[in-house]
Amino acid sequence: MKIGIHVSAAGGLINAPINAQAVGCETFQFFSRSPRGGSPAPLTAKVINEFKARCANYGFTDYYIHTPYYINFASINDRIRLGSIEVVRQELERGDKLGVAATMTHLGSAKEINLKKALTLVADSLIKVLRNYKGKNQLLLEISAGSGRVVGDNFTDLAELINLVEKKISHQRLGVCFDTAHAFASGYDLRNEQSVKNTFKQFDNIIGLDRLVLIHANDSKVELGSHKDRHENIGKGKIGRQGFAALLKLSILRKVNFILETPWSDEAEVKKDLHTLKKLRVKK
Ligand SMILES: [Zn+2]
Ligand SMILES: [Zn+2]
Repeated sequence: MKIGIHVSAAGGLINAPINAQAVGCETFQFFSRSPRGGSPAPLTAKVINEFKARCANYGFTDYYIHTPYYINFASINDRIRLGSIEVVRQELERGDKLGVAATMTHLGSAKEINLKKALTLVADSLIKVLRNYKGKNQLLLEISAGSGRVVGDNFTDLAELINLVEKKISHQRLGVCFDTAHAFASGYDLRNEQSVKNTFKQFDNIIGLDRLVLIHANDSKVELGSHKDRHENIGKGKIGRQGFAALLKLSILRKVNFILETPWSDEAEVKKDLHTLKKLRVKK
């Protein structure tokens, strides 16, 4: 289990490992392009070599990309849906060149259609993303908070998507990114040892723990089942320190890495979160 932070890559991708190392990360996550739109800066051989050399230098072996926020695989607007497919595929390929272990994406929101149609559309989009993709950068579906009509806020729908995709794609294995704030807002309790155990038992029964690649460790500003995506610093939210202590203690999560996405408004607070999680981690 390695613990890290979503760090800024502003000013150049090489700043991601530099920022991660500076705050004491063991692993890190970054945006390889603007999360709000626009074309990414090209990955030249120089950028790739410098990035990988820096990671090797700092001992980073596992690091992750988050795709931009505007991805919507459930849009009936072709321009939006096809654009999303193209961007996520680019991020898989870009990440592969940078030695990224996995790339997580949000799935989008079904505004105009019912859930069944939305799931079919998302699965179809994921199949297009993965078609003929031969890289090692694994695609992860991130559980959502279920605000609006966002897709993927429960284990059953995620399992259904994986099933639909892997009927068509056998050369790649999809993984799941479990965001604690999103899952909690979607109604999965994580506030103490018993609820954490129950939640991951459900995850195992419905999706399978072998699909769980990454945890986004975020406390939640909103109550259980609120269906709102509001991250909070560890111990200050409704999940609470006890919940995170239980998560970090859970033996089945010992091989899963944790990434903080708590508010960066105060860098000292994020560093404190990293320190808290490291302290709560149970040594093998
Ligand atoms: Zn996310
Ligand atoms: Zn997240």
